[in-house]
Amino acid sequence: MKRIKLNEGLTLSKIIHGWWRAENWNMTVDERVELIKKCLAKGVTTFDHADIYGGGICEELFGEVLEKNPKLRKQMEIITKCGIRFEHPNMPKNDGHYYDSSYEHIMYTVEKSLKGLKTDYVDLLLIHRPDMFMDPKEVAKAFVELKRSGKVKSFGVSNFLSEQFDMLQSYLDFPLTINQLELSVGCYDNFENGSVDNALKNRTKLMAWSPLLGGELFSSQEDKFVRLRKTLEEIKEEVGAYGIDEIAYAWLMNHPSNIAPIVGSGKMARIEAAIRALDIKLTRKQWFNILDACRGFEIA
Ligand code: NAP
Repeated sequence: MKRIKLNEGLTLSKIIHGWWRAENWNMTVDERVELIKKCLAKGVTTFDHADIYGGGICEELFGEVLEKNPKLRKQMEIITKCGIRFEHPNMPKNDGHYYDSSYEHIMYTVEKSLKGLKTDYVDLLLIHRPDMFMDPKEVAKAFVELKRSGKVKSFGVSNFLSEQFDMLQSYLDFPLTINQLELSVGCYDNFENGSVDNALKNRTKLMAWSPLLGGELFSSQEDKFVRLRKTLEEIKEEVGAYGIDEIAYAWLMNHPSNIAPIVGSGKMARIEAAIRALDIKLTRKQWFNILDACRGFEIA
């Protein structure tokens, strides 16, 4: 498995496994143990969480696995996120839906995530979304304390535009390592708005969430998706892949910014499709044909 180096202390697997939908997988703890062991055996060692996934239940489902198998912790990297308040019976402190990147909320959330995940550190903490009411001095204070205590090893952001990324970076004495963005064959906004260019400029890394558009790639009857499926099918035949999902992952991973897709399925066969995509080399023409299919017009 290819790996992505964020800094001297942290590398991530190029294919990341996302746990947002874990509540819907309806898996027993033993099935979750098996899934994680199979991921690790294939080199998928990085797992993506957030405090709000299932109101914290997804972190707890993962924590049950680590509680039963504490030795697995050292074989993996755990990402979690904070900064969104979300009313949910499992999140008693939350009183509505709003952003909160205050020092108190970051510190509270990390403690809750550590408890749920049954670990004493996370490898990477992300601010989940840009907070228009953010005081970057408070975020910096929280990050410094969490780093000093060893509870968080490295830091990054999610869904930040380039100006927002650079602004927060300017308050920190250590580099933000990564921006987790919505990027896929059906969502190219972050290629156009400067976010991908900014990562290339800063030599920081990128993760792609919903790389298969949450499954819409296969099911939506919108013109965009019909066009995309036709083009992906053609390219699948050209490169000899098994499914269009492999081409969708390859489109992200062939980009020079070295994007790491987060696979959202709990099915091992679907995770293996992402792994196969690591070996697919797309031509420039194929890459742009997919972009054209998404946009519905040819490049200028
Ligand atoms: P995704 O991989 O685009 O979508 C997963 C969905 O697609 C699942 O419902 C899956 O169904 C379905 N699917 C996958 N392969 C399929 C196939 N061949 N045919 C039909 N359906 C298929 O990813 P996602 O779950 O939306 O997002 C991935 C991760 O990104 C999340 O787990 C989370 O960690 C992260 N995320 C981050 C943010 C953020 O703001 N930072 C936002 C959203 C998500 P099955 O379960 O049946 O396989």
